[in-house]
Amino acid sequence: MRMTAFGARGSMVAAIGQGTWRLDDASRSGAMDALRKGLDAGMTHVDTAEMYGEAEPLVADAIEGRRDEVFLVSKVLPQNAGKTRAIAACERSLKRLRTDRLDCYLLHWRGSVPLAETIEAFETLVADGKILSWGVSNFDVRDLEEAVAIAGAGRIACNQVLYHLEERAIEHAVLPWCEDRGVALVAYSPFGSGDFPDASSESGAVLEAVAKEAGATARQVALAFLTRRPSVLTIPKASRVAHALDNAGAGDLELSAEQLVRIDAAFPLGPKPRYLPMI
Ligand code: NAP
Repeated sequence: MRMTAFGARGSMVAAIGQGTWRLDDASRSGAMDALRKGLDAGMTHVDTAEMYGEAEPLVADAIEGRRDEVFLVSKVLPQNAGKTRAIAACERSLKRLRTDRLDCYLLHWRGSVPLAETIEAFETLVADGKILSWGVSNFDVRDLEEAVAIAGAGRIACNQVLYHLEERAIEHAVLPWCEDRGVALVAYSPFGSGDFPDASSESGAVLEAVAKEAGATARQVALAFLTRRPSVLTIPKASRVAHALDNAGAGDLELSAEQLVRIDAAFPLGPKPRYLPMI
């Protein structure tokens, strides 16, 4: 499994991790099994959030007895991101996750609470050892600039944003901004949240052809393409063991420069949208 530096001062984290949004929609025990087998296969970066309902307790069960193996990330909802409310929200997440600390805690998206309040709460949580680092999610460059102006350089560990083959908007400005400042970029919904290019489409056929050459699957090729730059990690969600193991396999896949060019051409970047896309 390829390891990636998580922010300027961060530890090395598995480039391919595991998302947990709607993880137990089909079966709780199946989801637990997928998470555990995913951990066994090296996908030790686990992403959850207070918003994901039963996901935090599910993660607690799945990582029971192996907390130290996991790079555990959770998120505070914008409406809970006030100076004292964010601390209370984090403590609730710690309780649901049955742990004493998070490796990283994120603001899920910008809301109406002043960013300075949230950052003050995050820094208090760091000082108290309840979180080891903090980051943001769905932040465009303007939000990132504002956060750095408040927090100072080197404090934002990551920006978690929408990034998949058919949605590459972050490559215009957010990704270069993060790379220049040592902020890890975490790609969420790397399979388009289940809307993955069909093998019978023109672009899907390119993926299939590259996969065949590389002795890999189309989804492994997609994950390898998304994490082709050393600042990018990704967190696919898999509620089936076979899917989790497939995704973990991308952690050892390296595409050639020529294969990257073909994928780039099949899934063009497109123009810069006015607003950063999110789901
Ligand atoms: P995703 O990872 O893009 O796609 C998940 C879908 O792909 C599921 O239907 C899953 O099926 C399927 N899948 C996974 N691996 C597969 C494989 N190897 N072969 C075939 N199908 C496979 O969707 P996502 O859940 O939207 O995004 C991933 C994570 O990002 C979330 O779980 C969450 O942690 C995070 N996220 C963050 C934000 C944010 O605002 N910060 C927003 C959205 C998501 P099965 O479940 O049946 O295995």
